Amino acid sequence: MLSERVINFESFEVMDILAKCEEMERRGEDVIHLEIGEPDFDTPKPIVDACLNALKDGKTHYTDSLGIYDLREKISEEYKGEYGVDVSPNNIIITGGSSLGLFFAISSIIDKGDKVLIQNPSYPCYRNIIKFCGGVPVYCNFEDIESYISKRTKAVIINSPSNPLGEVISREIFEEIYENIPYVISDEIYSGLIYEGKHISAIEFDENLEKTIVVNGFSKLYAMTGWRIGYVISNKEIINAILKLQQNLFIAPTTFVQYGALKVFDEDVKKARDEMIKEFDRRRRLVLKYVKSFGWEVNNPIGAYYVFPNIGMDGREFSTKLLEEKKVATVPGIAFGSAGKNHIRISYANSYEKIKEGMERIEEFIENNF
Ligand code: PLP
Repeated sequence: MLSERVINFESFEVMDILAKCEEMERRGEDVIHLEIGEPDFDTPKPIVDACLNALKDGKTHYTDSLGIYDLREKISEEYKGEYGVDVSPNNIIITGGSSLGLFFAISSIIDKGDKVLIQNPSYPCYRNIIKFCGGVPVYCNFEDIESYISKRTKAVIINSPSNPLGEVISREIFEEIYENIPYVISDEIYSGLIYEGKHISAIEFDENLEKTIVVNGFSKLYAMTGWRIGYVISNKEIINAILKLQQNLFIAPTTFVQYGALKVFDEDVKKARDEMIKEFDRRRRLVLKYVKSFGWEVNNPIGAYYVFPNIGMDGREFSTKLLEEKKVATVPGIAFGSAGKNHIRISYANSYEKIKEGMERIEEFIENNF
């Protein structure tokens, strides 16, 4: 008999869809992937080479459970350069992707019955992890966040730029959040992927990290999804709590992967990163052009790599039928919260050509069915 904890744990639908597509591909079907938030680019070569060299040099033993000092020091310099804040390397812990960072962050502060505000719509794993830790996810509209706060509100999870909306949080909303909520978990995994304006980090509102837990990583910005490396920044009390979790559950992050990640901060890698950002922006414009031509209502996504149109009908039915008939994979908006019921999420992390073909297939699908 399984534990209630796992029986009640929902799967992460995007990965279920990916698995279904892979099965279709094994049968020889030509699927266009607009579902997964994973760059089609290869990881920049200097990162790969550094990892291979680390393996050859015998960097195959455990590291400090916090992660190697040099990597934490580089991250600290990055936050100083980008946001002008001093973060000690001792306030940083390296984790197995930002996913694990999220799990650590939520489990370190959430007790049974604690409420955690999340945006409607938002990344599905937030609500799943909150529930797994005994907390209560409360979907809310950030424009009106004060009206959702109660005595049991322990934290808010923000994600700017956000998945699935591609929107950023304004300074005014940050200020309101910081005034009223005990803890802020800021998922900054899309922080560099911004096409209009400049990214604001939660850390700018709380330089002493009294109530902030930043979760970040290298997956999205450096095409490193398969490397499983991320990090958490917070005050010493929270980092020590997370350290205990890491020691018991993982011992330490993967050693040679950490040495590869050290190269993320090199100038030539930053150049490669900037080229990827330029290309994402081109793809964003392409998807928006099609979406608007279909007459779908859409916001202005300025970051991450998702477009989340309101398609004017049930998103799950549409997306299921689209995959069956036209072999184009998208994600039903409802997976991200009730506000997404009539939406689908289109990821533009795939190549320009594949996206174009996918959008043309969607156009035909609409013409044939509606
Ligand atoms: N946070 C958000 C909002 C995401 O969209 C994702 C992945 O899609 C993650 C976290 C997980 O990323 P990682 O590969 O760093 O675990």
